[in-house]
Amino acid sequence: KTTIQHLHSGQVIVDLEAIVKELIENSLDANATSIEVVFINNGLESIQVKDDGDGIEENDRLCVAKRHYTSKLVKFDDLESISSYGFRGEALNSMCAISENAIIMTKTKEDVIGKQYDVDKEGFISNEKPTNSISKSGTNVTLYKPFYNLPVRRQLAKKNIPQSTRKFQDLIVQYALAHPNVRFSSHQARDTVGYIPNTGNNSWIKPATTSIEKTIGIIYGSQLANAVERFVETDIHHPTLTIDMILPKRNSDPSVIYKGGDRVFVYVNQRPINYVKSELKELVTSVRNRYRENVGLNENNRKNPFMYIDIQMSPDEYDVNIDPNKTTIYFQNKQLIFNLVDKIL
Ligand code: ADP
Ligand code: MG
Repeated sequence: KTTIQHLHSGQVIVDLEAIVKELIENSLDANATSIEVVFINNGLESIQVKDDGDGIEENDRLCVAKRHYTSKLVKFDDLESISSYGFRGEALNSMCAISENAIIMTKTKEDVIGKQYDVDKEGFISNEKPTNSISKSGTNVTLYKPFYNLPVRRQLAKKNIPQSTRKFQDLIVQYALAHPNVRFSSHQARDTVGYIPNTGNNSWIKPATTSIEKTIGIIYGSQLANAVERFVETDIHHPTLTIDMILPKRNSDPSVIYKGGDRVFVYVNQRPINYVKSELKELVTSVRNRYRENVGLNENNRKNPFMYIDIQMSPDEYDVNIDPNKTTIYFQNKQLIFNLVDKIL
């Protein structure tokens, strides 16, 4: 692999969280209904994501980890209508490039038995073996010793260990909330000898539910679930835009609504958006001000109440292809969004 390619991989996969994010997104794109994330030694030894999705077709396996290989984008015009999380085909390749080694296990529902492959730095697969670890269908990707070849990055990841469990969890919660029908679980293990326990003291599970409200109840407790309400509204003049918001009820108890860290969840078509960095920051401010007025708090309160905002719109009306991690977004007409949110508020 050339230096340029290594440098590029380090830009796509900036930290351990980026690995977790890309693997989860691939599982969701493969229609998984259960996603399990396992960290050994806080992800420094390995990060593994197992799903029960469609699996990878035999024909695709040779190329899935190749640079720019994607099964999701057929032609450039599709970029305007693509609704999957991935479309650039660089994540898997980059993750393998910065890991000491990588293993992919996969099985489609047509396959009689699952197969396991080693993946090298260039994305070549080898050493095919049968595996019984996948029953119906699914994929299981494990990356060992991430950033082993980027020593400064690895050192930084080590330094960040005290915050990393929290950050991994926050990331998983972002996807878990937006996909109530998917079971998510994660656990941390300290073993380094290859044994991956199924349960542990650090395990976290969000079962499949039938609604985001129920998911909120499971993740944050019934107090919060009872203190919020949902609004779904389509723009009558612009029917390709719908806002789905879960906001504090009028007069709900501030101690419940402001509890915990910044519980602000902003999505576009279920894709988590970094609202602080995006044009959507003002939306969060409007909700914050509105709730503060509702409960009569004074203007100095700059904390954000719990909020969930999913902007559903046609993919040709925005562009997420700005940052490698796709959490920054530009809109063709953000005013439409602001107006609709204002109307709901
Ligand atoms: P992208 O998601 O942008 O297509 P990736 O590098 O993340 O690119 O993945 C490359 C390809 O590998 C995907 O297009 C998909 O075909 C396949 N793939 C990766 N992870 C999974 C998974 N968990 N289940 C099924 N297919 C997968
Ligand atoms: Mg992807």
